[in-house]
Amino acid sequence: MAQSALFSTEKSILQEIQIPRLSARGIRILVKRDDLIHPVVSGNKWRKLKYNLEQAMHKKSAGIFTFGGAFSNHLVATAHACQQAVIPCVGFVRGDELSSDANETLQMCADLGMQLRFLSRASYAMRNDKQYIDSLRQEYPAYYSIPEGGANYYGLIGCQEIWGEIPYKIDHAFVAQGTTTTSCGLLSAKPAATRLHVIPVLKGFDAMREMTSLLRWFYMDDEITHEVVGEAVIHSDYHFGGYAQYDRELVQFMHEMHSEYDVPLDPIYTAKAFYGMLQVLAAPDYDNQTVMFYHSGGLQGGARIAQREGLEWYPSKG
Ligand SMILES: *Cc1c(COP(=O)(O)O)cnc(C)c1O
Repeated sequence: MAQSALFSTEKSILQEIQIPRLSARGIRILVKRDDLIHPVVSGNKWRKLKYNLEQAMHKKSAGIFTFGGAFSNHLVATAHACQQAVIPCVGFVRGDELSSDANETLQMCADLGMQLRFLSRASYAMRNDKQYIDSLRQEYPAYYSIPEGGANYYGLIGCQEIWGEIPYKIDHAFVAQGTTTTSCGLLSAKPAATRLHVIPVLKGFDAMREMTSLLRWFYMDDEITHEVVGEAVIHSDYHFGGYAQYDRELVQFMHEMHSEYDVPLDPIYTAKAFYGMLQVLAAPDYDNQTVMFYHSGGLQGGARIAQREGLEWYPSKG
């Protein structure tokens, strides 16, 4: 399949939602629905893979290997993309107690043809170590390696393209943050007048430091990198206890967003970011502003958690 068709983002609409208390203040909310790009694969993960895959093909790589946790949206995305592009792929998974039938995420990766290798936590901790990666490449010669979460230069430039699909002047944009790749892509390509607001989903996360180390690859200059990172507004209080943690209030919020505004969210990333955004927008500074929420996807993982917990947060309509 051609690259362009594989990474088509045609289905990602810009949805305007009317939240009465915000509309009354002249605040316009637009949701960039990258969750609609693909029914299973998390939207921002496509964006991060696009140029990595192109690079692998360019180098005539024999295959691709990458890294992820037991519920990784990135592993599923890589497995899908490699199946479509007919490139062999290997996923190194955190946890040597796991197997491909441990959960539906891993099962899906295996079904898509990804070879799964389970690493001890000690080995997995070395996933970004160049020597360790070289040692893995001895087993998989001429394989192209993609870091966990697609967090590299090519992932970043793929996320810059989001702005090309936004035909309005945006005053404030909000995005959930994990590895920082998506937020760094948005930050480095945003229109000068747009403020980027970042909501980390990890507790105790040094967003500034992580963004600096990734953007350094893009700008190749410490001073410019520092300046750009300084433009991001970081809201660190909406992690709900840390990665994959959530409470009743968040679940209630997800119900409301889905039933009232037709925006399905996931409990790990997008619900926290959307919740945080609404809290931030309560301040009077945002009157008459146009706001974009970047919906990065993740609904499949969210649905699986809901199933496991016996909860239903995407009630079927009508
Ligand atoms: C992976 C993921 C993120 C995190 O993106 P980063 O580029 O790692 O910061 C955000 N939202 C969803 C739904 C994801 O799957």
